[in-house]
Amino acid sequence: MTVQTNTPSGETSPIRLVIHGGAGTITRARLKAEREHAYTQVLEQSLTAGYSVLAAGGSSIDAVIAAIVVMEDSPLFNAGKGAVFSNAGRIELDASIMDGSTLMAGSVAGVTTIRNPIRAAHAVMTQSPHVMLIGHGADAFAAEKGLEIVDPSYFHTEFRWNQLQKAITQERLLQDHDALSDTPQPDADEKTDKKRGTVGAVALDRRGNLAAGTSTGGLTNKRFGRVGDSPIIGAGTYADNRSVAVSATGSGEMFIRTCAAFNTAAQMRLLHLPIIEAADNALAEVAAIGGDGGLIVLDAKGNYAMRFNTRGMFRGTIGSDGIARVEIFE
Ligand code: ASP
Repeated sequence: MTVQTNTPSGETSPIRLVIHGGAGTITRARLKAEREHAYTQVLEQSLTAGYSVLAAGGSSIDAVIAAIVVMEDSPLFNAGKGAVFSNAGRIELDASIMDGSTLMAGSVAGVTTIRNPIRAAHAVMTQSPHVMLIGHGADAFAAEKGLEIVDPSYFHTEFRWNQLQKAITQERLLQDHDALSDTPQPDADEKTDKKRGTVGAVALDRRGNLAAGTSTGGLTNKRFGRVGDSPIIGAGTYADNRSVAVSATGSGEMFIRTCAAFNTAAQMRLLHLPIIEAADNALAEVAAIGGDGGLIVLDAKGNYAMRFNTRGMFRGTIGSDGIARVEIFE
């Protein structure tokens, strides 16, 4: 089924790719110059990888995968290599992808051995009758489809391990503080910011087709098989040629409860709101129930928005001119 073809035959659409690398308490004061440079470099590489696909006439789905794989392979982001640890000291990855021309979608959650979970989400979409596979089953599916399987230790980084230890200590401090009010209060930023770094991409190809994808390790110190919004279609990811492609990052539970990605798309399709207003309304609903984060949104004409209600969001875009633009702070 094709939802809509945006370009009559013979015409080509403007191409556009928008990416994010997570939203959170990212300020100049907290991000050292050399780390800022490193993040900027990977974001530019991601944009260039996706742009190469689009400029060569490739599909928005392939561009989204190309852009996300670069960030999954970087230890800087909370996706693939460099993902955060769960309370049990494991790395459990979630990812999803959606094709705006067909409303086909695929996702995986809680996988532990797939080098690039976004490829596994794509395999679920294209090589299975399902939308979402979880845990060992999803790992086995990816292996059966010939995707690259790695030992879980591949994902480990010292930085994330230290973050887990810090989170566990902070949690203990908080509990102690509740029990005994003169123990030191944990830093407010540390309490709310679990060092995010989820990655996502939305793309528009020459045929006028939209696609969206998101990949994450979830939250540091997560427990009990917790899954956030990133692998949930309509919450963390959505794409429909009739409206927009969306990828989210932020407090997953609140993005799930407000169906943030679908909410943005629905406001565009049904209320015909401008793209920035639709994104801001969706984020306002997230904020109203105590969440924060960001959204990247792209429509079939190439209009886009990169909105967030945190201190910063790793983000960037590239269009037909081939010039990559990256931003981090407010
Ligand atoms: N939304 C992700 C999750 O809840 C985390 C993030 O984007 O920072 O798993």
